[in-house]
Amino acid sequence: MGEVWTLAEFRHGKLNPISFELLNRGKSLAQKLDTSLASIIIGYDIKKEDIDELIERGADKVYVVDDKRLENFIVETYAKVILKLLDEYNPDIFIAAATTTGRTLMPYIAVKKQTGLTADCTVLDIEEETGNLLQTRPAIGGNILATIKTLNTRPQMATVRPHSTKPALPDRNRVGEVIYKQFSDDVFSSKTKYIRFIKNESQQVNIQDAKIIVAGGRGLGKAENFKLIDELAELLGGAVGVSRDVVDRGWKTYPHQIGLSGKTVSPALYIAVGISGAIQHIAGMQTSENIIAINKDPDAQIFKIANLGIVGDLNEILPLLIERIKDYKK
Ligand code: FAD
Repeated sequence: MGEVWTLAEFRHGKLNPISFELLNRGKSLAQKLDTSLASIIIGYDIKKEDIDELIERGADKVYVVDDKRLENFIVETYAKVILKLLDEYNPDIFIAAATTTGRTLMPYIAVKKQTGLTADCTVLDIEEETGNLLQTRPAIGGNILATIKTLNTRPQMATVRPHSTKPALPDRNRVGEVIYKQFSDDVFSSKTKYIRFIKNESQQVNIQDAKIIVAGGRGLGKAENFKLIDELAELLGGAVGVSRDVVDRGWKTYPHQIGLSGKTVSPALYIAVGISGAIQHIAGMQTSENIIAINKDPDAQIFKIANLGIVGDLNEILPLLIERIKDYKK
């Protein structure tokens, strides 16, 4: 049985914490297959503490390719380096995050390797009888959950939706093997030239990065009432999320949708207002650290996962809450 590999994302001198979520996923797969879990990290000037952290958070091995020519992300060059590693070590499973990097790199590699790739998985598991990777993701506009298998080719490749699982916790006593690799000049040759990196400053608040989310559901009653949700979110420095029902009614747009067929979030605080807590909604926010629910129905499902539940009419509670926060801020 080959190893399970995760792609540790290293960019602009920093290890992306998303790498630890992948280790959490990879750990349970490797355990079920009774094989080792390895991370690959490629870039320039990779710090020892970053490599150590990958081991502390679950990697048995770390393959490191550190080269000045990998300072900037060029898909062709990164893919050539990873293809060399794959050819040499033949892992059974290779997963990356469904970030811009993962979404660019993984299809490129899958095509070159002539193997299967499932994008944006929310669940990964191992099929007991065969040891195959079960790659589950929402399909057909989120109306079904499809489980996909790569039967005849290796590695089995998947990208995983960010924040769909918690990061693996560190164990400072863990030890692992670090394998530094170097490659010949032809591996780094590319038709693409890096010119400069321009950050998209105009991007709206990304709800997946927000520490606080105020989410509204059908209980708001109409689009205009969302001004209460918008105001509360702004006061708390948070982002606005919604249930699918709200998007279906055209009260807010799809980028705000949280859940199975929307975004998966894991903020420090999630305030669910007028949301019943359907399983498809919960699938997108259950890893939030603290959940406050406001709902007039004491039996609403959302109270089952809430740390604090407020039973009452949101039209009374929200204005009071907004007023109190404004007073507190004075
Ligand atoms: P409702 O279930 O109607 O709940 C409204 C709540 O508001 C109720 O609990 C009610 O008690 C409360 N309420 C009403 N008035 C007030 C008031 N004045 N004060 C306080 N509380 C009040 N849903 C998602 O959210 N995200 C998804 O990604 C998603 N994907 C799906 C994928 C599939 C394949 C399917 C089949 C469904 C999906 N759904 C998704 C839909 C999901 O099943 C629910 O229909 C949806 O989450 C319900 O939204 P809601 O909680 O806003 O509305």
